[in-house]
Amino acid sequence: MTFDDFGLRAELLDAISASGYTTPTSIQQRAIPAILDGGDLLAAAQTGTGKTAAFTLPLLERLSAHDASGTKRRAVRLVVIAPTRELAAQIHESVKTYGRNLPLRSAVVFGGVGMQPQIDRLRKGVDILIATPGRLLDHLKRGNARLDGVETVILDEADRMLDMGFIHDIRKILKYAPSQRQTLMFSATFSKEIRGLAAGMLKNPVEIDVAPRNSAAETVAQRVYRLAKAEKRGLLSRLIKEGDWQQVLVFTRTKHGANNLSRQLGQDGLSSAAIHGNKSQTARTQALAGFKRGDVRVLVATDIAARGLDIDHLPHVVNYDLPQVAEDYVHRIGRTGRAGNAGEAISLVAPDEAKLLKGIERLLKRQLERGDAAA
Ligand code: AMP
Repeated sequence: MTFDDFGLRAELLDAISASGYTTPTSIQQRAIPAILDGGDLLAAAQTGTGKTAAFTLPLLERLSAHDASGTKRRAVRLVVIAPTRELAAQIHESVKTYGRNLPLRSAVVFGGVGMQPQIDRLRKGVDILIATPGRLLDHLKRGNARLDGVETVILDEADRMLDMGFIHDIRKILKYAPSQRQTLMFSATFSKEIRGLAAGMLKNPVEIDVAPRNSAAETVAQRVYRLAKAEKRGLLSRLIKEGDWQQVLVFTRTKHGANNLSRQLGQDGLSSAAIHGNKSQTARTQALAGFKRGDVRVLVATDIAARGLDIDHLPHVVNYDLPQVAEDYVHRIGRTGRAGNAGEAISLVAPDEAKLLKGIERLLKRQLERGDAAA
């Protein structure tokens, strides 16, 4: 199958080939026709599967099919709601990349930065709005944005939005949109909670599942080191240096832990940056850019900050602390070995994390290989 088979317009096909894509990923093969059909969709797909293009491409096609650029003040026609600023910004980048040859206008709004530039942008009129829930609701309440002309609503990483307590905001936001609309929900997994949410928000959705719970777990080499908490940092520095790892994403449980570890790695001579919810948007963007450029060798992140980061083909992911929720382990290691590239995920497990490790192995339905921390 190729992108030509979807009947997308030439402007989109040109943008796709400029991105270097030749074959649609499996979520794209299934979601693009379903979204073009105009119905609702519930899709299980993790970051790294190509899900952003899977919804952006068909929606750019639909928006172009009924051109509204002649209307006086452009009303928002597509709204994408995402849990984090980083994810929202990345979706916006994708919209701009794939829509580069189309006359559609887009904007992204999220918290943590000034309202006024966003208000100015919204006043000019946009066809596509990407937003985090809190800030979007703020703009709606103040009358800075309207959703009464919205044709499609996308809830991206809906499972994470549930976890982060955004569900009330989302319900309020949806009240601003017409009830006659297309609604798409993307989630890493189909949990009971997600199914409940979908039942209330989607009408006869097409269901697509390209994320069997442990899919990443099968392609990524995984190893566990059992050791005392105090030995973790030494082993991590050694693994990075001896393995000559040039780019490694390290997960810690807390923001404080991320800061500490990043500082200590710096003392060990490893260039490092921490990324978490307490950092300003500028600091986060800088850290991510440095990491992508290769100036920052170790990026230390909490789960929420790392969620949705578009970092491709990461060779090494380290669980410095195990996640509290076993599913997050699968999200984390999904950052490595993407798009068929080999990757390695290492977990450092202190005695008080034994139970968490058991939970992860139960979810994966297998025991992870043990490494020798003393070797
Ligand atoms: P996503 O799951 O949306 O975060 O996308 C993961 C990565 O895959 C992004 O860096 C995209 O640029 C890339 N990508 C998306 N679709 C394709 C495709 N059909 N072929 C190759 N790479 C793709």
